[in-house]
Amino acid sequence: MEVDTVAELVAALPPGVVVTGAAEVEKYREDFARDGSAGVPLAVVRAETAGQVQQAVRWAAAHRTPVVPRGAGTGLSGGSSAVDGGITISLDRMRAIEIDPACQVAVVEPGALNVEVKRAAAEHGLWYPPDPSSFEICSIGGNLATNAGGLCCVKYGVTTDYVLGMDVVLADGTLVTLGGKQIKDVAGLSLLKLFVGSEGTLGIITRAILRLIPAQRAGATLVSSFPTMTAASRAVVAIRNRVRSSMLELMDNATINAVEDWRSHGLDRSTGALLIAQSDAHGASCEAEIDVIRRCCEEESATEVFTTTDADEADLFVSARRNAFMALEYRGSVLFEDVGVPVPLLPDLIDGMADISERCGVEIAVVAHAGDGNTHPIVVYDAADPASVTGARTAFDQVMALAIALGGTITGEHGVGRAKKGALPDQLGADVMALTRRVKDALDPDGILNPGAVL
Ligand SMILES: Cc1cc2nc3c(=O)[nH]c(=O)nc-3n(C[C@H](O)[C@H](O)[C@H](O)COP(=O)(O)OP(=O)(O)OC[C@H]3O[C@@H](n4cnc5c(N)ncnc54)[C@H](O)[C@@H]3O)c2cc1C
Repeated sequence: MEVDTVAELVAALPPGVVVTGAAEVEKYREDFARDGSAGVPLAVVRAETAGQVQQAVRWAAAHRTPVVPRGAGTGLSGGSSAVDGGITISLDRMRAIEIDPACQVAVVEPGALNVEVKRAAAEHGLWYPPDPSSFEICSIGGNLATNAGGLCCVKYGVTTDYVLGMDVVLADGTLVTLGGKQIKDVAGLSLLKLFVGSEGTLGIITRAILRLIPAQRAGATLVSSFPTMTAASRAVVAIRNRVRSSMLELMDNATINAVEDWRSHGLDRSTGALLIAQSDAHGASCEAEIDVIRRCCEEESATEVFTTTDADEADLFVSARRNAFMALEYRGSVLFEDVGVPVPLLPDLIDGMADISERCGVEIAVVAHAGDGNTHPIVVYDAADPASVTGARTAFDQVMALAIALGGTITGEHGVGRAKKGALPDQLGADVMALTRRVKDALDPDGILNPGAVL
């Protein structure tokens, strides 16, 4: 029966679009969360057009078959993990990018990588700011579906702030166009934003209209060492109160050493915490901002402060920060967290996580988009040791509980996916969960879109 119905899908789409070979399908089963419970899909549809996405969804709707939308598979919460007996619709072949310099927008197919959009915009002196650390390997569709953040969000905001329009294929195969190239638009309910961050549970994004802004000014970078993460996070709070820096990132000692083990960036392995701050303000204002940041660091017992206006020199530190996840994966098995709190409570979150690490007997390395109060505690454990596995799972849950207790969130940018859905009701509460369920049921009554993710 299954084989017959998949044959129908294969026949309906051009040759090569529907992939069923085991080796090829395997590449589309997991994302970077390496979800051990990822299923085996009946087929992967490597769509080339929105029309093909519609055809595949109509087929799935007719057969009540689960559909998992997938971008580049760099997600860190199991959001695009395949489902047994379902199909995965991969958007990786839909990569067209068109820049409209007069309107200052990019019209982009979902499979285009973030870096490709940035490059295309730069050819016109324009900039697409959202910059997840994974910007060279993640897709725009995935960015919209997770409302991705990144390093410059502390000043420039997150993905949703740049989404003006999109085409979405709904659960019955209908394609709707929301928004457009206009900057302001309040006609009707804000359905456009409903789809941003919906993690493939409400529809499949097949085109996006993204706002661009003038290219970022070259600025200055300050790198400061601290004896502890607590001191560094206090400095972050002070900086946030006084200037609007364009980057405020933190790495702890475990991360610094993991990065150095993986690929030497010349970081001091004995440093308790490293803060990387940038200002892209104009001329003298840039100098003034860097001066304020320096003073905030010194007042919180910084042991060393270094500044540079040389872009290559700055990039050494920024790329060390961007490489943190990859480097930590080499230390053992990892669980990726993404908790956030109101910025003034960042030191409490940092201290609380250190306590959890000690109690559970597992290492929790911390990197953070600190200026947003958004941390990535990474639980490193030994998958071959049952005690370590239990400690890691307990620590993972306790870190989310701590963030909620501090009035924060279980995920600031990676999404709930499959990894964090157990904790979602604790954050949202019964009424908001019920409302979420009503929205999901209204848009996807048969529950075929990304079942098992988020809800
Ligand atoms: C080294 C590393 C660093 C990272 N740093 C950051 C960071 O700084 N900030 C950040 O926010 N994230 C970061 N991430 C996480 C990840 O890159 C982002 O979540 C990214 O937005 C996922 O994009 P993707 O194309 O890989 O999506 P996928 O992993 O393929 O999918 C992610 C989710 O989006 C859904 N989806 C994908 N495409 C579509 C579509 N067209 N329509 C509907 N739903 C869709 C999927 O179903 C899934 O739920 C990092 C990941 C890695 C590996």
